[in-house]
Amino acid sequence: MSDVTTDLFGGPARRAGRVVPVLVPMPAPRPYSYAVPDEMHVEPGSVVQVPLGPRQVFGVVWDGAEDEAVDPKKLRPITKVFDCPPLKEEHRRFLDWVSTYTLSPPGLVARMALRAPAGFDPEPMVEGLRYSGILPERMTAARTRVLDLARDGLSWTRSGLAHAAGVSSSVIDGMTAQGVFETVFIPPPPVVPLPDPDHGASRLEGAQAEAAAELLAEVRALKFSVSLMDGITGSGKTEVYFEAIAETLRQGRQVLILLPEIALTASFLERFESRFGAKPAEWHSDLAPKTRERVWRQAATGDVRVVAGARSALFLPFDDLGLIIVDEEHDPAYKQEDRVFYNARDMAVVRGHIGRFPVVLVSATPSVESQVNGLSGRYRPIHLPVRFGDAALPDLHLIDMRRHPPERGGFLSPVLLRAIGKTVAKGEQALLFLNRRGYAPLTLCRVCGHRFQCPQCSSWLVEHRFRGQIQCHQCGYAERTPECCPECGTFDHLVACGPGVERIAEEVERHFPDARTIVLSSDILGGVKRLRLELDAIAKGEADIVIGTQLVAKGHNFPLMSLVGIVDADLGLANGDPRAAERTFQLLSQVTGRAGRSGLKSHGLLQTYQPQHPVMQAIVSGDAHAFYEREIAERERAHLPPFGRLASIIVSADTRNDAEAHARALRLAAPSTQGITVLGPAEAPLALVRGRHRFRLLVHGQRSSDMQGFLKAMIAAGPRERGSVHVQLDIDPQSF
Ligand code: ADP
Ligand code: ZN
Repeated sequence: MSDVTTDLFGGPARRAGRVVPVLVPMPAPRPYSYAVPDEMHVEPGSVVQVPLGPRQVFGVVWDGAEDEAVDPKKLRPITKVFDCPPLKEEHRRFLDWVSTYTLSPPGLVARMALRAPAGFDPEPMVEGLRYSGILPERMTAARTRVLDLARDGLSWTRSGLAHAAGVSSSVIDGMTAQGVFETVFIPPPPVVPLPDPDHGASRLEGAQAEAAAELLAEVRALKFSVSLMDGITGSGKTEVYFEAIAETLRQGRQVLILLPEIALTASFLERFESRFGAKPAEWHSDLAPKTRERVWRQAATGDVRVVAGARSALFLPFDDLGLIIVDEEHDPAYKQEDRVFYNARDMAVVRGHIGRFPVVLVSATPSVESQVNGLSGRYRPIHLPVRFGDAALPDLHLIDMRRHPPERGGFLSPVLLRAIGKTVAKGEQALLFLNRRGYAPLTLCRVCGHRFQCPQCSSWLVEHRFRGQIQCHQCGYAERTPECCPECGTFDHLVACGPGVERIAEEVERHFPDARTIVLSSDILGGVKRLRLELDAIAKGEADIVIGTQLVAKGHNFPLMSLVGIVDADLGLANGDPRAAERTFQLLSQVTGRAGRSGLKSHGLLQTYQPQHPVMQAIVSGDAHAFYEREIAERERAHLPPFGRLASIIVSADTRNDAEAHARALRLAAPSTQGITVLGPAEAPLALVRGRHRFRLLVHGQRSSDMQGFLKAMIAAGPRERGSVHVQLDIDPQSF
């Protein structure tokens, strides 16, 4: 009815005593009611400031009936409406959906959509000058130079014009006083120039052209669809989805590209620029606050057309989103495991469904879930079979470590060392991959057997020799590497067990003292900037041997790299997680795909103690198909996702007893529902994190079961969180 009132009487609805629901960024189960002051106009989606206790917080006006039961006089009024576009209906439905699916409070989900730090008002306009058409009373050389610049009618800032003309600001002021310039207001600059869909298109060949045609058809259909594009690294997947982006831009709609490690993908941004003549706007946690605010606002106004971002970019308030690309869709980095537990790949599909536009999932090694959806026809499979041009896949071989053991105290087999030597002698590059930061994963005392453990976590401390520290990779705790054992007091008897990248670097330097080696891991000093420089240096051939963790696995193009050595291919297989095989297969495929991207003859050598393992066999034979078939059959037999549903409930508390007691009580509160079983409680895989003891219940359901309904009933019937106890739900957990 209020719409009719608005239409009949014009202007914003000004009914006295209006009450609206406002979502505040708190873990509350529903929006709170606020009064709307008489002169204020708000609508669903308006971003507002409201009092909450003693504080002022951001909020979003939500949908739903005005709550007639509350007396508006008792309610606190909205303080302020920000001058930004309201969150659209489709965006609000998306936030609702995420909240319902993940069983997270809607306010916490809304908070992810309001990640612009300082405020939502537009940046103030900058005061500027424009030529008024009036000539100065007297011309001088300086004034002539200024006029030459200003005559074309563009706006300048005072200092910008003075600087460009090479005169002092007083010259400009003198002319202004004579009426030569009029004052204008200049809007703040756009974050990025507009991309041009036809700037630098590649000519696609064969299968690429067919794949692009299929994607274009989806984009032109202007409706929801999901495509799953797979193809080995270097087959041109990026090239192909650029065409879908171009078409969406021609339609005047916006595009979101999700990337798992956006901070490291400088090369992606450059590639995008050479295709579209402008970079996409970036969105990730390393952005400066000002840039963040601008990207947020310009996504809402539509001034930013393409965003390349980390998973949180999914929550930006796009004006007219028309396509989402999820690159490396299988990547575990898409799962957020903090507050709101969600998988950005799955939520991207939901976003497309609500917004009625296509979503494209891209990977050389898709997740088992997506593969199954591709096979069943729920997703449209698009396949790119070969590497582009003369780039060939590396020749892959296993090194059976039982037959070719490393020398004492080393970790590299003589076979691998010889291959490195040959590669370096030819002036080409070798990459040694080991997914372990630091020097050694475990330090112990040779006399009493004492192991160094984090005081607040159930993880071992990892020695970082370059920094002279032992560190916890769970919580960041660090101390100087001790000289004597804290248990028995013996000096100089601490031993490092097992290798980390630093230790491999030491071994490499011993064998190849003249080679230029680089260690790349997230421990690098200088952060993302420095990392980008190092990656650049490697691409330019300024290193011979690179030793790296999974940071080097992703997306980079190293033209001179002709050898990839996997130091411990078995790492990750042993952790008992049913997803271990899939993860290892994906990671090893991705790393070996780093070699031979430019036509050099290239090799991959994988050190393993289990050469018969199906993952090793799948990698060397290049038969991904057989691997997936087996993996899918096993999941189906065990009713594991996507053939069944899982949720994990983590109960944490300051004491082990409290955590366990609460978990047990919750377990007893589980309703008996056919097709759903609860396992546990058992100590969580990380039993102690930052001083919090953790117990886990695993809920397993048939594919069709109402997992959310079951969990809600269980939590409602269970004990309330008391004291230090906290319960966290994880729908579709990563490890199980
Ligand atoms: P993927 O995304 O599958 O790893 P890319 O799209 O990155 O593959 O392509 C691999 C390399 O081959 C890139 O350097 C890309 O520029 C080049 N390439 C692929 N297809 C073409 C094409 N049709 N024309 C020109 N270069 C291409
Ligand atoms: Zn710790």
